[in-house]
Amino acid sequence: MSIARSILLAAAQSPTINQFALKSRVVKRATKAFMPGERPEDALDAGAALAKDGRKLLFTKLGEAITNIAEADAVRDHYLWFFDQLKARGLPAQVSIKPTQLGLDQSEAKCLEHCLALAAKAESVGAALWIDMEDSTYVDRTLALYETVKKKHPSTGLALQAYLFRTPKDLERLRPLKPVIRLVKGAYAEPAAVAFPKKSDTDAAFEAISRTMLDWAKTGECTPILGTHDIPLLERLISYADGIRLEKGKYEIHMLYGIREKEQARFRREGHAVATLISYGNAWFRWYMRRLAERPANVLFVARSIFG
Ligand SMILES: Cc1cc2nc3c(=O)[nH]c(=O)nc-3n(C[C@H](O)[C@H](O)[C@H](O)COP(=O)(O)OP(=O)(O)OC[C@H]3O[C@@H](n4cnc5c(N)ncnc54)[C@H](O)[C@@H]3O)c2cc1C
Repeated sequence: MSIARSILLAAAQSPTINQFALKSRVVKRATKAFMPGERPEDALDAGAALAKDGRKLLFTKLGEAITNIAEADAVRDHYLWFFDQLKARGLPAQVSIKPTQLGLDQSEAKCLEHCLALAAKAESVGAALWIDMEDSTYVDRTLALYETVKKKHPSTGLALQAYLFRTPKDLERLRPLKPVIRLVKGAYAEPAAVAFPKKSDTDAAFEAISRTMLDWAKTGECTPILGTHDIPLLERLISYADGIRLEKGKYEIHMLYGIREKEQARFRREGHAVATLISYGNAWFRWYMRRLAERPANVLFVARSIFG
């Protein structure tokens, strides 16, 4: 892991820096590149504008690891309300949640109950629920959660991380369920015992796992989502999909709001299914630090916003 990435991911865990950042108007302004605003309405308005080119949308309310189960109830209620907003606006959208935001640390049973309620609500408004993958200590519990929700609500999706050694086996385990998988490289600081320390190994794993998922898509055993901004990698995977004659609609490309926007629009113009994930909410600090860690050059961008 690069030194800059390690420092940024360590800073993400600091309550002092968190408090400073949340109060700082300049830091808040700098986050605008990655999120249209803290209010759900900001996210919905930005999404409506993007959807004009036929792209799909994903929304997520920032915040992780809550401290009591009442907070999880509030998150569930928020998303129930949010699904109604999607329906009212007729947006082609899905919602992505973090299990710890829905109480995974406090009560696995409650977390499952909340996920089932949200997946059912998603279905009732023609949307779908996505489950994010958090750090490696949560993978077993998140897989179990996904298996139960997926059996009842087939459109539910799950994120898997290419940097974890275990991911190919996890994917194989999910195969009988015809999983809907968003493969991402992985955003957390993981020990070398569980994840590739070298980025090139993660990139290679992403390519290999994606090929497997594209093969399975051919026989209807998987819906693969390529969740990356790595354009050369995406181009290679698109060529692979073309080579096995997999139609464009059988897999999707997902990227984050504000990153590689021109390429998102280009892929869409070329007929690919593209979705943009838009974040909102006031608990943006940790998430924002992970975005900086993905590309330490972004720190220069922030510094420029702060110092003029
Ligand atoms: C839709 C979606 C959902 C995700 N869900 C999860 C999840 O559930 N769990 C999880 O651990 N991670 C998640 N991530 C984050 C993911 O793990 C990576 O940290 C992130 O996508 C950066 O890696 P990359 O694949 O874009 O490749 P990289 O090799 O890191 O980046 C490729 C290129 O993209 C550009 N780029 C990448 N990131 C940035 C940035 N922050 N700012 C500016 N340019 C950038 C740069 O030009 C870079 O050279 C998600 C990502 C996406 C797109």
